[in-house]
Amino acid sequence: MGPEEVWSTAHAEELYLLSAWSDGFFSVNAQGHVQVDPTKDRSAGIDIASVVNHLERKGISFPLLIRFQDVLKGRIEQLYEAFRLAKEDVGFDGSYTAVYPIKVNQLHEVVEEILDAGRPHGLGLECGSKAELIAALPLLEDDDTLLICNGYKDRSMLDLILSGQQMGKSVLPVIEKLDEFEAYDLQAQAMRLSAPFGVRLRLTTAGAGKWADSGGDLSKFGISVPELLRVVELLEERGEQDRFRLLHFHLGSQISDIRTLKKAVREITQVYVQLKRRGLGIRFLDVGGGLGINYGGTYASHDDAINYSLGEYANAIVATVKEVCDSEGVGHPDLISESGRALTAHHSVLIINSVGLYSKEEAPEDFLPVENNHRLVFDLHALREWLREEPHMGLSQLLEAYHDAAGKRAEADSLFSLGYLPLEEKAAIERLYWAICRQINDRVQAWDSDALPPELDRLDSHLIDQCLCDFSVFQSLLDHWAIGQRFPIIPIQRLDEEPTRRAVLVDLTCDSDGKVSSYIGPGHKEYEFLRMHDPHPGETYRFGIFLMGAYQDIMGDTHNLFGRVTEAHIYADDEEPEGFYVEKIIRGTKVKDMLELVQYFPNDLYNRMSRHIRSKIQAGQLKSSEGYELLERYAETFNDSTYYVAPSTGPTISGTRKRKKSDE
Ligand SMILES: *Cc1c(COP(=O)(O)O)cnc(C)c1O
Repeated sequence: MGPEEVWSTAHAEELYLLSAWSDGFFSVNAQGHVQVDPTKDRSAGIDIASVVNHLERKGISFPLLIRFQDVLKGRIEQLYEAFRLAKEDVGFDGSYTAVYPIKVNQLHEVVEEILDAGRPHGLGLECGSKAELIAALPLLEDDDTLLICNGYKDRSMLDLILSGQQMGKSVLPVIEKLDEFEAYDLQAQAMRLSAPFGVRLRLTTAGAGKWADSGGDLSKFGISVPELLRVVELLEERGEQDRFRLLHFHLGSQISDIRTLKKAVREITQVYVQLKRRGLGIRFLDVGGGLGINYGGTYASHDDAINYSLGEYANAIVATVKEVCDSEGVGHPDLISESGRALTAHHSVLIINSVGLYSKEEAPEDFLPVENNHRLVFDLHALREWLREEPHMGLSQLLEAYHDAAGKRAEADSLFSLGYLPLEEKAAIERLYWAICRQINDRVQAWDSDALPPELDRLDSHLIDQCLCDFSVFQSLLDHWAIGQRFPIIPIQRLDEEPTRRAVLVDLTCDSDGKVSSYIGPGHKEYEFLRMHDPHPGETYRFGIFLMGAYQDIMGDTHNLFGRVTEAHIYADDEEPEGFYVEKIIRGTKVKDMLELVQYFPNDLYNRMSRHIRSKIQAGQLKSSEGYELLERYAETFNDSTYYVAPSTGPTISGTRKRKKSDE
């Protein structure tokens, strides 16, 4: 802002980079409040402060997570529109559909909303674990809705996938490793199903960014080209080329550089055209997830930013696939993407209350020592006056002034601890010390940070206030704490006034990491503070933390619905034959416990599944006995462990699954 300019809400939008990260879903209204614009029409926006006040009147407690379901719908529309335009642009013949990976946010209401909004476009689901499969299967209202199953699959998960196929649903496992294919194949033969599948390919293109290891040679996922050829040869021997339906890769989440994606798409399309030429029945090319979100608000390829738009993402995929297919004379595949983060991030906002602002109190400009003040008060006051009178000091003089002030303050501290300094005098000394630090800091801003002595360079951060807020970084901002990802944070009110304070948000946990340590802001910089207003007495000052809907608001330790692991407590004991005893075992989470946490209730799931099966029996697609068995098998999985259960004796070939002791 120039010196003549008057602060306006437009300045607030610039300061907090709204246009860069909000994708049109958030803005600042004339009252200086943040509003959500689900349809991108500002005149139809919802004032977040009014939503919050309304909920507060109803006695809702804070911190508060608000979901805007319409924003989910809006993001789905944006994604499909981007692909529609990209296809139209180059004349692409295949179709496009999104499948939603539910691990990104499994909350039942979120998944239902996405399915509803995506239904006109044929949107499907993706699951990466057993509990997710159990939750997703009954949600497939019509038989064409795709359910793609990634992740390592144990016996019971493979069984369930085949059950879904037997019911006529479009459930496709994506083979992650060769022995998974063998197990799937054996069970499929036992159930006399043709059992289509997809394959996740381990590309040589590695991802970029935090999750780079999800792709590339070092990835723990996917099968290599030699393994792929073994599968292909086996299918050719048996004349089952049509079972191979989908080719998949996933580079990892939050792809920061579009060039990496293009390279990977080119590589997989080469594999696609060669396999098509060999006569395989592949219909889908699935480019995985990774469509990024501009958390950092810059178009730099920083870990929390991306260097492309939604439109460029769609163009890159569509144009690359078309180019490779056309040059090899092979028809275009149907495209699938597994965008999770990009669909859900915008829809939820965490509202937190500030409970106190701790600032470095400075002596007022006109402070004058009185006769019986301590000598140190006089000294510091004189130092302050000297700084005022000498506007042109070099760095060495400023450094000397700082050392003087810091020395006097240290002296005051030791006098105080020995009982020689009254509290009032100590307070006066601290206020003068901070006033001097501020004076020096204002001056050193004229120098380049690299040129400053470290003590003067650090001065700026010592002068930042702390704003204590009612939330926990570990519960709600896991990715900030764990991998330093930034999230847009904005005061949700008073944005028609200039925010003049700089503060670090600290949480209520007793942990020193319990704070937000970096913020987004103008220029391609990382800030160690957030701009906020001077709180009014009695005011409830609130912040919104945005882009929380992907991975964050659901996470805790429930990622992929795996939940708590089993614990065993062991004690050493000489009298025991093996030198120890087991004092206690705490069982790990069962599938049903985990599902209830995200609002899927076994009864409801069972009823839905039973309804699907009955309709298939009535339509003559299933025999009653088969239907009953399918339902039983499904219900049994509620008590499974959420983790992979290793086959004890290798895959046995039997339609009905006997429960083993070890599963319980
Ligand atoms: C996690 C994951 C996704 C979702 O990735 P986003 O970056 O959230 O789009 C998609 N596919 C697979 C296989 C995944 O593991």
